[in-house]
Amino acid sequence: MPRPICATIDLSSLRNNLAVARAHAGSAKVWCVVKADAYGHGLDNAVRAWRDLADGFALLDLDEAVQLRDSGIRQPILMLEGAFEPADLLRMAESDLTPVIHHMGQVAMIVGAGLPQRMPVYLKANTGMNRLGLAAGDWPVALATLRACPQVGPITLMTHFADADGERGIDWQMARFDALCAGSGLPRSMANSAALLRFPQANADWVRPGIMLYGGSPFPVRHSAAQLGLRPVMTLRSEIISVQRLEPGDSVGYGCLFTAQRPMRVGVVACGYADGYPRHAPTGTPVNVAGRMTGTVGRVSMDMIAVDLENVPDAGGGAPVVLWGEGCPADDVATAAGTVSYELFCALAPRVPVEVVG
Ligand SMILES: *Cc1c(COP(=O)(O)O)cnc(C)c1O
Repeated sequence: MPRPICATIDLSSLRNNLAVARAHAGSAKVWCVVKADAYGHGLDNAVRAWRDLADGFALLDLDEAVQLRDSGIRQPILMLEGAFEPADLLRMAESDLTPVIHHMGQVAMIVGAGLPQRMPVYLKANTGMNRLGLAAGDWPVALATLRACPQVGPITLMTHFADADGERGIDWQMARFDALCAGSGLPRSMANSAALLRFPQANADWVRPGIMLYGGSPFPVRHSAAQLGLRPVMTLRSEIISVQRLEPGDSVGYGCLFTAQRPMRVGVVACGYADGYPRHAPTGTPVNVAGRMTGTVGRVSMDMIAVDLENVPDAGGGAPVVLWGEGCPADDVATAAGTVSYELFCALAPRVPVEVVG
């Protein structure tokens, strides 16, 4: 028998979550963001679910984008980091991909690329994220250069929000972006999941949801995924493979981080950080054992983690465990571990077998 750990990917949840995004998007078109192997869910699985539902797919990796195109995807494919060298643009042209242009070097690259046909592009402004995007001072000349370039086709203007899920919101960035776009008459794209759910005024022509499509809330402390109508896509399951009885003073695992105050039972689950479970998850991180919520105890080790069986008296060896997903929200696990569901999903290790359902 193989080690009892397995992740399931639910395609019906992917479809449900895209429908939720679409309901918020109004008349805007939806880029399904599938970077990082569809946030760890498998690019193939995302394509199976959304082949006929997405208006476009957005990602970073050129090989993955070409693979998408070769799998028969007809929709636009957006390259979120654009070209890294001029040769990339030729490959993008061959597969009819749409690059983001976010610095002046990329403007020069497309002007000099010798492209065989007009290429649609996204021009990205830095409005306060200070990661990718043209500075306001470079923007007018970049836009004028692209408009004058015979190799450039339709231009869409984009920016990315730094705090759509937080206190500052988006107004300060939208004001800057509006000023840059004024009078251009060009289509625009701004919203990630958080903005799509909170700020309909940022929908514009194309929205770019990622995490919500995978069933994660972009602001889990305020609104749970379930409250937003989102369903978990990835469920990480395993089993109890050993049970220990502790007496007061007994500790569990490396570093003896947890010490029992009273007699208690703990179960040892076949899942550790080498499977993608966060090593820094503290004692009390939520976990579902045999249908009941309980918490982890002690330090996460490479292949195992211990869980408190006090309120799951019937659970012994072989009891089913959900680490996150259906029955144990990934957002709650992530919050307990001081991270975000994005990181949990992306960290799912290659050694974990994946089963596709729905
Ligand atoms: C990743 C990404 C998104 C999606 O963000 P979520 O928070 O996952 O919705 C949108 N736009 C850009 C440019 C991105 O890099």
